Amino acid sequence: MSDFPDLPVSIADIREAARTIAGAADGTPLVPSAFMEEVTGHAFWMKLEIGQATGAFKLRGATNAIRLLGDVPGVVCCSTGNHGRAVAYAASEAGIPAVVCMSTLVPEAKVERIRAMGAEVVIEGQSQDDAQKAADRMVESRGLVEVPPFDHPDVIAGQGTIGLELLEARPGLSTLIIPLSGGGLAAGVAVAAKALNPEIRIIGVTMENGAAMDASIRAGRPVEVQEVASLADSLGGGIGLSNRYSFPICRELLDEIVLVTEEEIRDGMQALFFEDALVAEGASAVAHAAILAGKISVDGPTGTIITGRNLDTSTFMRIMVGEDVSLGEATLKGRAYGT
Ligand SMILES: *Cc1c(COP(=O)(O)O)cnc(C)c1O
Repeated sequence: MSDFPDLPVSIADIREAARTIAGAADGTPLVPSAFMEEVTGHAFWMKLEIGQATGAFKLRGATNAIRLLGDVPGVVCCSTGNHGRAVAYAASEAGIPAVVCMSTLVPEAKVERIRAMGAEVVIEGQSQDDAQKAADRMVESRGLVEVPPFDHPDVIAGQGTIGLELLEARPGLSTLIIPLSGGGLAAGVAVAAKALNPEIRIIGVTMENGAAMDASIRAGRPVEVQEVASLADSLGGGIGLSNRYSFPICRELLDEIVLVTEEEIRDGMQALFFEDALVAEGASAVAHAAILAGKISVDGPTGTIITGRNLDTSTFMRIMVGEDVSLGEATLKGRAYGT
């Protein structure tokens, strides 16, 4: 077993998180994809975080962080949707108030579900950074405690429990392909996976438009990227210019970052649906997208994380039947699966 003493989250933190979230956000199914096994020539495993109560893995990090807070007046977060939903759910379980700050880019369906969980919603600006400013104000004016979507050790440790469960079930995995945005998921899972199997290759995948972690690792420091609408809306947002945790871990432990186009994400979503019968967000389909596009070659048993299922169902249906869909200013051409 290996550990990384210089990194801010350890395998011990992740084991502790596993105990903290037990019974609330753990134990999602791990299922094989016969289709992806045929495509890659190797066993292919999917960790179904779409089975979480809030429909996405972010419940792990939010539950861990909130359970460790103890007695506070309430929590606040900014979010592209899934973290907000997780914080709203975990706060209501803990019996404390939650405020969720989001930008106008977040789909209305996600906003409504968060309100329905009893959280107060604040919509501000065109980007995650604008939503962050609203969250900062709530910390000052109301004394709420912020639960960040990715750049916090307790959040990273919570997401890392996925890596623990994956490697305990399939210790022989040679490659793990992880949807990547702010990097809380990739950081936590990489710490756990490399602790249990130092040889494992960790690949982060994100969309070409707005690949903040990739640009930051290349620049050697956190940088801003322009945010545009994407089928993988959950991968939107920067990594934060004052990033302290997820950036150094991803820089150290990610073996590779692969970027996918909107067309490739569409193809990945269709493959997940038509071949694996899974309804999942664009963010969850990036491993399928990258492999089908020939951007990743695997050399042994491979795993990925089907991170969330909180999508706009009418857009999803349009993509499945091959209709065009609009992405902000742009239009993504439709293509019927298998044609
Ligand atoms: C947040 C999220 C991701 C990316 O996680 P990061 O920790 O920000 O890298 C991927 N998929 C879904 C569905 C998400 O909600």
